[in-house]
Amino acid sequence: GKKLLSVRNLEITFRTEGEDIPVVRDLSFDLDHGDTLGIVGESGCGKSITALSLLGLVPSPPGRISKGQILFEGEDLVQAGERRLNQVRGNDISMVFQEPMTSLNPVYTIGEQIAETARVHFGLSPAKAWARAVEMLDLVGIPSPDTRAHDFPHQLSGGMRQRVMIAIALVCEPKLLIADEPTTALDVTVQAQVFDLFQELKQKIGAAIILITHDIGVVAQMTNRVMVMYAGRKIEEGPVAEFIRDPRHPYTRGLVSCIPRLRLPPDDHPAPLFEIPGVVPSPWELNRPGCAFAPRCARAMARCRTENPVLAPLGDGRAAACWLETEAAA
Ligand code: SF4
Ligand code: MG
Repeated sequence: GKKLLSVRNLEITFRTEGEDIPVVRDLSFDLDHGDTLGIVGESGCGKSITALSLLGLVPSPPGRISKGQILFEGEDLVQAGERRLNQVRGNDISMVFQEPMTSLNPVYTIGEQIAETARVHFGLSPAKAWARAVEMLDLVGIPSPDTRAHDFPHQLSGGMRQRVMIAIALVCEPKLLIADEPTTALDVTVQAQVFDLFQELKQKIGAAIILITHDIGVVAQMTNRVMVMYAGRKIEEGPVAEFIRDPRHPYTRGLVSCIPRLRLPPDDHPAPLFEIPGVVPSPWELNRPGCAFAPRCARAMARCRTENPVLAPLGDGRAAACWLETEAAA
């Protein structure tokens, strides 16, 4: 059948000092219905902007999709107009962001906010939409949902607010749920609870999930497949189990060696979503020839400083962009 999502040669640029600097380059990946994919990388690697591009939300200007296709059930969303993108966002693709307080409206109860989405989406009566909101709060594990539905966002803990955001994201029964660092703002215990919730929902709702994180440990527990980004490019991908057992790219080896520290506390400096300096790697890093990881790579060779490594297939759906792999295969 048709792939749910097929991203082809995506390039996203940001205008910086009069120049269009690519922040995502030649990015291709696929996602099947019901599949789970982790997109991993440091802040500024292009993972958040990739997620926004899937929703037609690249802030423009200064951002722009300059090349490629985002095929959602065969339809190219790069070519879609704002009206169509609104439909897609309301029906098919939902996103959960990292700051639930900024995404919830402080002047409406959480029940009203979920009910409003249900009302708009399914054309439900106010009473039915309210019932649906209570049902969704129950689904995401809010205790006494019919009472809590009357709470305002500030009356809830951070973890509970994130559950509400997940309820809002799921009320339209999307085919694809994107979660960008959904637990970064939460403390470690609550993070674990939210991830348990995702695990549970994966079974219950059958939506495909893209989980974006800097934490490879989270991906190891949550997703079937993983894609690692570095300086705007995909540098490794594959099924999670094989990837964890035998990471190939020197950067991902470093990431995987950190796994015993599962569920790390949040980054000291998490990048705010739309703050361009945090999203865009330095032009120097991106426009220099050769492998972007070379300055940090203990195994860099002369070739690494002049030629960008091509993504080499490693079998079993795996691939890595590193000259060591290309040369081992040759
Ligand atoms: Fe290191 Fe070279 Fe591989 Fe880049 S291509 S990760 S610099 S060995
Ligand atoms: Mg980010």
